[in-house]
Amino acid sequence: MSVLNIEKFPSKVLKQKAPPVEQVDDAIRTLMDNMLETMYASSGVGLAAPQVGVSTRVIVLDVNLQEGDDYPVLMLANPEVISAEGSEEFEEGCLSVPGFTTLIKRPAEVTVKALDRDGKELTIEAGGLLAVALQHKIDHLEGKLILDRASSIKREFYKKRIKKNAAVAG
Ligand code: ZN
Repeated sequence: MSVLNIEKFPSKVLKQKAPPVEQVDDAIRTLMDNMLETMYASSGVGLAAPQVGVSTRVIVLDVNLQEGDDYPVLMLANPEVISAEGSEEFEEGCLSVPGFTTLIKRPAEVTVKALDRDGKELTIEAGGLLAVALQHKIDHLEGKLILDRASSIKREFYKKRIKKNAAVAG
């Protein structure tokens, strides 16, 4: 397994809609394993393939942050929200948008259909942080970042700051 480079805003691959996985084969499994290792190395709770520069519909998640948490570790291909209920606000950050967090309102509970690491279909009923993380990761597959869900003032401020930093770095 290896730790991959994480793409950061305004990288183009983050803005692309990722095509579906045709078959969960060894190449996809290797990608999943490397993404999981990269996520742990970066202390993230999830990672989507576009975040490591691969435009395909693969996500990995481990949202167990506190002792006693009992969420499954997930490696998924072609995840899709098939139903959603309620609404909840959560302060979200993103490994691809360093130094930025924003309050985002999303459905509180979601049912997600996907393929697992063996290519078998599974259905996940998620609430709490897992529901937030699943929706955040699926957003990445659509080319959508938390910046796109933030207020326009917050978004423009962040873009300006990134530009300024880039100018300073030459
Ligand atoms: Zn993200």
